[in-house]
Amino acid sequence: MKLANNPTKNGEILCVGTELLLGDILNTNAQFLSREASKLGLNIYYETVVGDNEDRLLKALKTAERSDIILICGGLGPTPDDITRDTVAKALGLPLHKDDGILKEIEDYYRRQNRKMPKDVSRQAEIVPDCTVFQNRIGTAPGLAIQKDGRHYILMPGPPRELTRMFEHDIAPYLKKLFKRTLVSRDLMIFGMGESEVADKLGALLDGKNPTVATYAKLSEVLVRVTAAAETQEDAEKVADATAKTVQKCLGDVVYSQNGESLAFQTVSLLKQHCLTVATAESCTGGLLASYLTDISGASAVFKTGIVSYANETKARLLGVAPETLNTFGAVSAQTAAAMAEGVRRSDGGNLGVGITGVAGPEPSEGKPVGLVFVSLSDGKTVWIRKLSAAYLEDRERVRHYAALTALDLIRRYISATPGNLSGGIPVDTPPEKITPKEHLSDFEISAKNPTEER
Ligand code: ATP
Ligand code: MG
Repeated sequence: MKLANNPTKNGEILCVGTELLLGDILNTNAQFLSREASKLGLNIYYETVVGDNEDRLLKALKTAERSDIILICGGLGPTPDDITRDTVAKALGLPLHKDDGILKEIEDYYRRQNRKMPKDVSRQAEIVPDCTVFQNRIGTAPGLAIQKDGRHYILMPGPPRELTRMFEHDIAPYLKKLFKRTLVSRDLMIFGMGESEVADKLGALLDGKNPTVATYAKLSEVLVRVTAAAETQEDAEKVADATAKTVQKCLGDVVYSQNGESLAFQTVSLLKQHCLTVATAESCTGGLLASYLTDISGASAVFKTGIVSYANETKARLLGVAPETLNTFGAVSAQTAAAMAEGVRRSDGGNLGVGITGVAGPEPSEGKPVGLVFVSLSDGKTVWIRKLSAAYLEDRERVRHYAALTALDLIRRYISATPGNLSGGIPVDTPPEKITPKEHLSDFEISAKNPTEER
């Protein structure tokens, strides 16, 4: 197996257009190019925006000599403010000449549209000697790759549709050939462990150069990206898969996906695979869990009922939560969460029921602190309850998001442990007064000590 040891190339992005400097348009091309370059293993170290001005563009091109690959976009059109092609040729000391083949393609483009070709448009057929021309499939300005003094200048049209199409079809393969390396990534998704704990557990794995292993904090989750570079796709995949396995071993069952799928996607897939259905009863999350489930196409096979039972009266009337339970333990309690889960499961007639009740904030409720949430799952025989003390999240949206993810994770763990075998459950008919937080919740209590450090 041959890992790619050839050094990576360094690149920069140069966007040309006064409208970008005026804030008239968002520089989406730079975002697209940065993202695609990183997928190819091209390190982007600088990003510059320069107006449609020859002097300043010449200066920017001079500065860009620090890079191996210079990705330039915009200003390839026919109007006088489109100066990129001429200015790059001038900076590199290369002559421009009209290419008959390109000119004919542009003339054909206008003929197909039954339009008369404006005279200026023929400027777009100008190229420098020995360059590579990239056809523009949806516009008239072709892209160019020019090599000079060991550097590669890649010129691309400004309109995002034209640029993305050209990049995907022609420029990415062109760059790949330059690198003689293929990159393969695996995205491991983690719920229930904070970024620093993940980093601690991965230890020296994070120091590797090839493959690389890096952690990224997401909203209430962590992403670990494994990237391997090798001479062939097959070799890169082998290395990436082996390393992903090692990461999985280090982190255990907090890893819910090895390919970047969302927790909702994984949960719905597992429900489908096991022919199970789930119904939801939500209080503080107000339907967020139902929304996450129904975001996934094909959710109708596994989800039929979602009840938002915000008021106590609704919890009693629609879910059958006993008024004594609500009066004695409060709406935000393990007892109410358990009764909600079983209540919605029974009324739906399906396999599983989930109940969520808590204090999303900003004010405490029933004398209970913001961030206290109970999430429960019932399969008709057993009920599992999780208590979240998510006060550190501070913000209503984040508490609700975290609670909905916790419910998805509880379903995922229930199914992964083979249905019914998840540890820590209690019989569904346990009298409410026998559900004592100390005995029944400690297994599920998620440490409030920074389970996630979000950016
Ligand atoms: P045209 O032939 O359309 O003139 P061009 O290659 O000369 O193409 P520009 O004139 O620089 O490109 O830009 C054309 C349009 O493309 C802009 O008005 C803008 O809407 C969009 N555009 C240009 N650069 C960017 C960018 N960096 N990000 C997003 N949109 C851009
Ligand atoms: Mg233009």
